[in-house]
Amino acid sequence: MSTLAPVLPLDPETLREDFPILSVRLHGDVPLVYLDNAATTQRPRQVIQSLVDVYEKQYANVHRGIHWLSDQSTDLYEEAREKARAFINARHREEVIFTYGTTEGINLVARSWGGKNVGAGDEILLTEMEHHSNLVPWQQLAQERGAVLRHIPITDDGRLAMDALPALLSRRPKLVAVAAVSNVVGTINPVAEIARQAHAAGALVLVDAAQSVPHLPTDVQALGVDFLAFSGHKMLGPSGVGILYGRRELLDAMPPFLGGGSMIRRVKLDTFEPAELPAKFEAGTPPIVPAIGLGTAIDYLHAIGLERIHEYERMLTIRAHQVLQSVGGVRLLGPAPEHKAGIVSFTLEGIHAHDVAQILDRHGIAARAGHHCAMPLHKRLGTNASVRASFYFYNTLAEVEQLAAALVETKRVFRKA
Ligand code: PLP
Repeated sequence: MSTLAPVLPLDPETLREDFPILSVRLHGDVPLVYLDNAATTQRPRQVIQSLVDVYEKQYANVHRGIHWLSDQSTDLYEEAREKARAFINARHREEVIFTYGTTEGINLVARSWGGKNVGAGDEILLTEMEHHSNLVPWQQLAQERGAVLRHIPITDDGRLAMDALPALLSRRPKLVAVAAVSNVVGTINPVAEIARQAHAAGALVLVDAAQSVPHLPTDVQALGVDFLAFSGHKMLGPSGVGILYGRRELLDAMPPFLGGGSMIRRVKLDTFEPAELPAKFEAGTPPIVPAIGLGTAIDYLHAIGLERIHEYERMLTIRAHQVLQSVGGVRLLGPAPEHKAGIVSFTLEGIHAHDVAQILDRHGIAARAGHHCAMPLHKRLGTNASVRASFYFYNTLAEVEQLAAALVETKRVFRKA
């Protein structure tokens, strides 16, 4: 990371040297163009090495042993928690819970907070652009409790129809759950404004930050949100670890989500007393090494700077819009680049998204095709499936041009067929 002294602008070619997988060649000798970062990102050597280091020198279970190795492991695990706390500017370390990812974080809140606080007829407000991870847990809760789900509608260009919010909030929902950035249309949602209005109406706010924390600066105190969930594997970290942030007073008042070791203070044969935060929500052996790897990923991102990452990805997105529009037959989903993070989804007239992605793959381009775990959003946009190119700071303008060229080729192949 010594090469990462703050140098503007961000230099993707230098950073790419940290990512061994980006030099992979496939299908004979085609270079990999990795444009599936919204699904999962790649890991730099520094993160990979930190995993090896722990396993080789410092691995034991955490918070349990009285031995040296367990102390080492526990220190690293808790250091990672502190890094995550600082990264999102949470006030207290107890507000940072290690989960296995965004999905678990949202389920934790739906089960624990929802189980205690949501009853028949209560409303939960979601949006039409949510990932299934921020729909299904609330549907499960609503089914169990007889609660009512409502949704902030979206405009035709994939932005939240904010003018609909006051009326929805006047129904006094218990919670508003919203993605900070859509994983399909890339829209950056006005989370701070939603939180302000929701709180004025007496609702709590949960943010699905899976697509925002890796790409934009995040400050939970400035946003004024109550819960925020994200995943390590979408921000250079290992899979199997994520973070749930929750305001301490709220987490304190919530019952444990999973029961087992580590989350207890005392157990009798027929009853238990839960542990203090954050252990209360970390039952069983946690994702020790993934959490430590996530800490290294946070160091790496911090050294580049989230502002620079965001600016750079915006530049790629603007260029992607320009070149894709020039292909002909491309329908870009979502708003103009100034309202977006680095996610560009589109359809190509007359050719199914899966077929497009297959031809792209022949050109070495890894893009995602399908509904991207957002079926209701696709329905609202009038399509079953789309192709998604999603960027990170290691992508280049040349790769964006390659995408457009491969789409021209895709059209040619299908015209012949
Ligand atoms: N929310 C959004 C917006 C996502 O993009 C994703 C993953 O694609 C998730 C939630 C679920 O994340 P995970 O599978 O890491 O739990």
